[in-house]
Amino acid sequence: MRSCLLLAVAILLQSGSLSAATATDWTVSYSPVHVVNGSPVVIRVNTPKPVRSLAGDWLGHQLAFSLDPHTKTWFALAGASLETKPGSYPLQLHAETTAGQGLSFEKKIAVAHQRYPRVLLKVPGRYTAPSPEEQRQIDQDKKIKDEAFKTLSADREWEGSFAAPAEAPISDVFGVQRVFNGSVQSTHQGLDFRVPAGTPVAAVNRGQVILARSLFFEGNCVVIDHGQGLLSLYLHLSKFLVKEGDTVEKHQQIGLSGGTGRATGPHLHLAVRWQGVYLNPQILLGLRLP
Ligand SMILES: [Zn+2]
Repeated sequence: MRSCLLLAVAILLQSGSLSAATATDWTVSYSPVHVVNGSPVVIRVNTPKPVRSLAGDWLGHQLAFSLDPHTKTWFALAGASLETKPGSYPLQLHAETTAGQGLSFEKKIAVAHQRYPRVLLKVPGRYTAPSPEEQRQIDQDKKIKDEAFKTLSADREWEGSFAAPAEAPISDVFGVQRVFNGSVQSTHQGLDFRVPAGTPVAAVNRGQVILARSLFFEGNCVVIDHGQGLLSLYLHLSKFLVKEGDTVEKHQQIGLSGGTGRATGPHLHLAVRWQGVYLNPQILLGLRLP
């Protein structure tokens, strides 16, 4: 009887010390809770002690964490490319305390498989069988884009949740496997808004315009650098309202919609590129961010 009591006391003491440990443990949460290939993810972290910096690594990408002063929670954007195979991938966290002590933590984040539909589309023949001259322009465009994607701001320019670039129904979603003119296959790496030509298009967040020019496939195209490797791209515009080098605020008009480039008709194509991979804009627009 007495030993039973002692055991009970021992268990109580142990559970007491366990809950004390839990209160000073790492907590990691993420949104969306159900992560699929192609999805952006916002990761929130509370560290066991106050830290002056937090860095992370997930799926081979470096994550830059910022501290939300209101909740004292660290947050970072991350993402799983369309090619990510289903599985559980470790998120590595490294922090430095205000006293200079290094802290590390690991948590696995599961990525589920999303099946994307396949559609057949018709476009003018030059977009599937370009002439040598058009091919030269396509090659030149690639160089222009590669250059633009190289010079990115390491600092976070975006702030708060992302805003839709237009108030309009979605006409095509991200990830669709498209077959143009029965031959050329390409993945739809953006989100299409059904807007008539001439509709104002707004920046989804704050950033710097790193590209505003006419390209063969993209048509008149604006690319905004939001910092930390995050870009937003606006395609097929009829008119530019910004130029390269401009700083833009969230909701600022950057152009008018149109149907320039490889488009089946007037619409706005919004793409989100993060550290070299295209992510589902619809999920990014739905995330609540500090
Ligand atoms: Zn599109």
